[in-house]
Amino acid sequence: MALIVQKYGGTSVADVDKIMGVARKAAHLHGEGNQVVLVVSAMGKSTDHLLDLMYEITNNPPERELDMLMSTGEQVSISLLSTALHTLGIESVSLTGSLAGIKTDSNHIRARILEIEPGRIEEELEKGKVVVVAGFQGIDSRGEITTLGRGGSDTTAVALAAALKADLCEIFTDVKGIYTLDPNMVSTARKLPFISYDEMLEMANLGARVMHPRAVELGKQYKLKIHVRSSFDEEEGTIIREVASLEEKYIVSGIACDVNLAKVAIVGIPDRPGIAANIFNTIADAGISVDLIVQSIRKDEENDILFSVNKEDLNKTLAILEKISDEVGAKEVFYDEDVAKISIIGAGMANVPGVAATMFKALADRDINIEIISTSEIKVSCLIKKDRINDAAEGVHEAFKLGEDQASLT
Ligand code: ADP
Ligand code: ASP
Ligand code: MG
Repeated sequence: MALIVQKYGGTSVADVDKIMGVARKAAHLHGEGNQVVLVVSAMGKSTDHLLDLMYEITNNPPERELDMLMSTGEQVSISLLSTALHTLGIESVSLTGSLAGIKTDSNHIRARILEIEPGRIEEELEKGKVVVVAGFQGIDSRGEITTLGRGGSDTTAVALAAALKADLCEIFTDVKGIYTLDPNMVSTARKLPFISYDEMLEMANLGARVMHPRAVELGKQYKLKIHVRSSFDEEEGTIIREVASLEEKYIVSGIACDVNLAKVAIVGIPDRPGIAANIFNTIADAGISVDLIVQSIRKDEENDILFSVNKEDLNKTLAILEKISDEVGAKEVFYDEDVAKISIIGAGMANVPGVAATMFKALADRDINIEIISTSEIKVSCLIKKDRINDAAEGVHEAFKLGEDQASLT
């Protein structure tokens, strides 16, 4: 007997037929004597539809109300899935994040799980029930509903698998695993049998939405192997795990693209120490992550600072920058939503010369202008115009021969 945590994303529970399919799969596992916990997302694109309603009312909704609204999506799918199991003669119970003991901090719309009190889940499993848990949501110390950031159901699943010491954690989605590049962007993308936590984390942080970054962090922290695979066929997917040997270090193992970004800039800042610290501390205090920071060369005793943020955080970021701009006497704050980021990721690129140059050449060959560059030991990112992102992805994928098996193995 094993304890198995399975997560089903929005597409996997998009309609009643698909929900019945998930119930049949779970019933089969349960019938084999396993303890089964299912974590589900909201049906199809229902979280987006809920948000559309909110944005018909205002562009700047209170984050608490966003959580109140968005958390309803998962409540629909858990109830339907649990009922589907009942119709198959399987005892089951649906639990919201709160009932499942998922405790978070109070950062609405981007809360982090602080701890899980798995008592209720364990009790239900002991009774022989399949437990169906709402992904993406938790509860803070005051009992307020919180959500974990878009795509956060993956994190619920991995956190539960860790808390319950599960034997298996499977993430079922609408693609067959983790590919060298989003397979919906380029048909030559290749499925990877394995990927390391660090590479997957980098890919997730850089915009490959197939896994929520926090889920990968937790997997690494608890040394939990995560199997990402398709809901719609039996084929083995990709295992996220520690790198097993040096041979598995690819120079470039994948490409991530992020189109959910905005570039912001504060220009004509008086050249004094402490202003950048002030800007980025204030932004960090608001729970906003910043990427691709550039400070221009000083001219006329003035500086410009440019960086990128997630689109969801744009309004909040602009409000902070306007305030600081007034305080320090900067000339202007502006933004551009017409940008995208393309990144190459690979644990083996650290000491290999010419990797960044190959990427820049692939972009130049397609006449794609690079606006900002940022590098780390295992990635190179470029900010470009959004309408060129597919072209860029195709060119860079080709330049590193990622469609070919083991192409860029060190
Ligand atoms: P779910 O609703 O199951 O959580 P998501 O839409 O969040 O599914 O994530 C799956 C999607 O991630 C795929 O449909 C694919 O378009 C996208 N994706 C981005 N990068 C990758 C990648 N490297 N490998 C696989 N899928 C990727
Ligand atoms: N329903 C949430 C979203 O659309 C969470 C998830 O799907 O993981 O972001
Ligand atoms: Mg997802």
